[in-house]
Amino acid sequence: MITKGCDDQPDIYLTFDDGPDPRFTPRLLDILDLFQINASFFLLGQACERFPDLVRRISEAGHTIGNHTFTHCHPWAVSARRARDEVRRTQGVIADACGKAPKLFRPPYGRRRAVMIEEASALGMETVLWTRSAIDWGVMAEIDSIGHRLSQACAGDILLCHDAPMVKNKPDLTLAVLPGFIEQSHRRKLRFAPLDQLLARRTGEGSISPAQSV
Ligand SMILES: [Zn+2]
Repeated sequence: MITKGCDDQPDIYLTFDDGPDPRFTPRLLDILDLFQINASFFLLGQACERFPDLVRRISEAGHTIGNHTFTHCHPWAVSARRARDEVRRTQGVIADACGKAPKLFRPPYGRRRAVMIEEASALGMETVLWTRSAIDWGVMAEIDSIGHRLSQACAGDILLCHDAPMVKNKPDLTLAVLPGFIEQSHRRKLRFAPLDQLLARRTGEGSISPAQSV
């Protein structure tokens, strides 16, 4: 399981969960394109089925795509069979949409249920969580507080944000904060990298730790 980036490089990893969403994802892609940086998107199968063109656009822009289950079910609230199916079905939908199967899996709410992690591993995915959350959802989501939390980013951080307005997410605030955060990070000499670069480096170093189950 990936729990941290490499802090020997000035890389930070922006990740966006719960999309794609036609109201927010295109705006996010425009911002990333403007600054010529790459990020990672953990997509929901049900949204990919509805918006396959967005999946393609994300992929063609060079961003990393990960699997975030089909319906964003709580991992503990479904049967073992359903838990596995949520992962497998999403993998197929994403591969159909953009021609590439994800190599990364992030469980909803970061809850690592053994059968889901096993299914992801069987499909060739590593599980990745995050090291710092923007908390761009719920009552703690305000422009200033999101900006402050992101501004604390250090080399190696995997940053959790959202680009779809489900589960109390407030992606409009995230998008408002993002350009200033990117500019500030560049001034701090931090680089933005997609997670597949981290994965490639770790694979090259042979340092992938086995998936842990909870
Ligand atoms: Zn999520």
